[in-house]
Amino acid sequence: MIDLKDFEYDELEEYVQSIGEKRFRAQQIFSWLHKGAESYEEMSNLSKAAREKLEKETYVSTLKIREKYVSKLDGTVKYLFELPDGNCIESVVMRYHHGLTICISSQVGCRMGCRFCASTIGGLYRSLTAGEILNQVIFAQKDMGERISNIVMMGIGEPLDNYDNVIKFLHNVNRENGLNIGYRHISLSTCGVADKIYSLAEENLPITLTISLHAPNDIIRNTIMPVNHKYNITELLKACRAYVKTTGRRISFEYSLIHGVNDSMDNAKELAELIKDMRPHVNLIPVNNVEERDFKKGSRADIAAFQNKLISLGINATVRRELGSDISASCGQLRKKVL
Ligand code: SAH
Repeated sequence: MIDLKDFEYDELEEYVQSIGEKRFRAQQIFSWLHKGAESYEEMSNLSKAAREKLEKETYVSTLKIREKYVSKLDGTVKYLFELPDGNCIESVVMRYHHGLTICISSQVGCRMGCRFCASTIGGLYRSLTAGEILNQVIFAQKDMGERISNIVMMGIGEPLDNYDNVIKFLHNVNRENGLNIGYRHISLSTCGVADKIYSLAEENLPITLTISLHAPNDIIRNTIMPVNHKYNITELLKACRAYVKTTGRRISFEYSLIHGVNDSMDNAKELAELIKDMRPHVNLIPVNNVEERDFKKGSRADIAAFQNKLISLGINATVRRELGSDISASCGQLRKKVL
């Protein structure tokens, strides 16, 4: 059976014509799917015959809310969604002054092995389909009863390790008669799968690319991010510069501050030297403590000192505000607890 949300729009048009329906039916179906319809019966402007034909080979996929937590501190909502095969993924909706932002997952688990990350502890179970990625936005929006205007692909999984489905999802979520979320309102975060960064540059999507750098040199990066053995910093930054050149878009870097590992003043200096030619934004994340891991956050003063050092060297650096700290909103933590 085919999940209609795994089709790109033109594939949906082809499909409806192949079962003897008019092309404009695709518009109607696409629109229902993105409003969160859960069955063909709900699609009241389709004829009974059309619905019956659709039911033969296709279905309307849904996501079950297995758990939901609302932060009393800042209104952040964390969903533990259950997939049709029983696997769970997490999505988080954050409230900013410019609207709602959702952080979504791209895989069940992750095989990248970053030492500080909770999502990778059990390895990769499977990648999500394009429809499953999209359903997080559709069903969170339906549950919130409010428009979600921004997306960050920073939940569980490595999006560039599920490349084709992620691209399909991006095309669909951007369509006007679907969720109509502008590419400029979407960020994609990667641990640094360099060859896919070149491919992404060719897609011509004005999304924001975010690189999880987390270290100013290969010696440190090798110890915390196994992906660095495959694509070292030189190769990764070469891909980043090519991306900037092809797309004309600036890149953001994430840098999780781990006390005593990557947060010295020398580290800040080395980092600034490494990336300043790209005039990037650096988002500093005080490392979140993960039970199984022994990484420590620095003090407020340590974090401020690192930020100020970068700023003094001409780098635009901010510290990520922690949202939903009362509901274990950081990715991977909730799924792990439930499993
Ligand atoms: N796989 C993608 C997106 C997922 S994680 C990537 O690697 O970019 C989103 C961000 O949170 C990444 O920068 C990741 O490295 C970081 N992160 C994961 N666990 C963390 C932790 N315990 N503390 C701080 N940052 C963490």
